[in-house]
Order: sequence, then structure tokens, then C-alpha cells
Amino acid sequence: MDNDHTSIHEFDFDLICEYFSTLERQGPGSPEMTLKALSFIHGLSGESHIADIGCGTGGQTMVLGKHAPGRITGVDLFPQFIDLFNHNASKLDLHDRVKGVVGSMDKLPFETEALDLIWSEGAIYNIGFERGLNEWRKFIKPGGYIAVTEASWFTQKRPDEIDAFWQDAYPEIDTIPNKLGQMQHAGYVPAASFILPENCWIEHFYTPQVAAQDDFQKKYAGNQTAEALIANQRHEAQLYHKYKAYYGYVFYIGKKL
Ligand code: SAM
Repeated sequence: MDNDHTSIHEFDFDLICEYFSTLERQGPGSPEMTLKALSFIHGLSGESHIADIGCGTGGQTMVLGKHAPGRITGVDLFPQFIDLFNHNASKLDLHDRVKGVVGSMDKLPFETEALDLIWSEGAIYNIGFERGLNEWRKFIKPGGYIAVTEASWFTQKRPDEIDAFWQDAYPEIDTIPNKLGQMQHAGYVPAASFILPENCWIEHFYTPQVAAQDDFQKKYAGNQTAEALIANQRHEAQLYHKYKAYYGYVFYIGKKL
């Protein structure tokens, strides 16, 4: 199998869920950066309703739950992730205020202008940054906020190998000024943006996968899907190490007009 040209989306979803369920986070990020983004959000109270879209097992949601007032609804497509999310909320005694529900980001289960804040780390790419910003806006109260992380180019030009990888994986990747322009165009005032530091990728995302990959390889020895999934993740990590000067995740925080 030519792994370079195999999209992760072609793999068996149950195996993908099992692999990522063993990790605290399913994408790059860190508690420190979640809190940094939260510091730009004003006006939350005990009455606030926050949604975390594409929440996964809730690594970042639990940080929000501990530090932000109000209620949080986590939404994810995969029931396995939501089960773990609710288990984690109970373990931390946050279950009264933090609840996970199965749902899709293209059909969110909220009323118009019901939310004070939409959060989404490493997940908006599933429907695309521009589409997500535009479609989710109606759920946010006037004066409310959106905070998302998104893959972005740091430079105007970059080597062909990494350009080709991203054009295949997510052609909507763009420079930071262009992403900010899209946010403004979608009806938000860009309130802050900052690049996630390398430790969000290495310490919090790729390094924990090394042990997970060893376990997974033992458990699924000879299983082509599992091997391809691991090869894919390793390839991504290698590219990150090689080209991290050219791209990364950026937190974009906007205020709805
Ligand atoms: N926010 C988590 C984090 O940072 O650890 C998870 C990020 S993970 C890279 C992307 C998440 O989006 C996965 O949990 C996946 O199940 C979820 N997802 C993919 N498509 C979705 C959709 N259409 N609706 C809701 N969630 C979706």
C-alpha cells in the first residue's frame, strides 16, 4: 500500500477511534494554550452556554470546564469519544456542567443565538474553516465569541513536498492574514490570534503516540489497516519535524458583531 497517498479517512473508523481513544488529546494543543485562548474571552458567567465542537474525548473541554463558568456541551461524531468524554467529566466531578453529545458539526443541535462561545480545537477542518465560521455564527449570541484552531502557513512560500502534502490533506490551509480576513468576512471581529508552540505538537500529540503505536502494533500485528494508520501518523510526525518552520496550528478568536 502506498501510504503517502492513503487518506486517513479511507481507514476503518473503529480502528481510528480505538487508536485515538488511548490519547488524552486527538489533535495538537495544550492546557496552557487553551487557557491562553480563554483569556481573550470576556463576559462569561454562570448562565453562559459554551459548545466545544469536535470535542473528541474532551482533553481541552475539561480544561475549559475547570476554568470557565457556565455550561459546556461537547459535540462529536463518534459515540466512543463521547462515552469517554462523559466518563472523564464524571471523574473530574464536572458532569453537572460538562456534557458530551453525539452530533455532527454540519447539523449542530443548538437554537439560534443560544451560545455565548463556540470552541473548537483541531476540528473545524472537517467542514472547512470558512464554512464552519459562517454556518456556526447563527448559534452565537451577538457579542459572543468563537475560538478555533486551524492549520495555517507561516510563510508565503514553502518547499514542494510539504505544499503537496497539505494540498492533498487540506487545501484550505492558508496564511494567517488570509485566515483573519476570512474570519472578518464571516462577521466576526478578530480579537486575537496566536501560533501554538511546538510543544503542542511534539510533547502533547506526537510523543504520546509513540507508546500508543507500539501497543497498537502488538495488538493488531499483521492487520493492514492498523499498520497503514500507524505509518500515516509516523509520516505526519516526520513531516512536522522537517517542516515546522512553515506551518502549524493557529488559535483564531473572533467576536460576533
Ligand atoms: N478537539 C479534540 C482535541 O483537540 O483533542 C479532537 C480533535 S480531532 C483532530 C478532530 C475531532 O473531530 C475528532 O474527535 C472527530 O471525531 C471529530 N469530527 C470529525 N468530523 C466531525 C463532524 N462532522 N462532526 C463532529 N465532530 C467531528
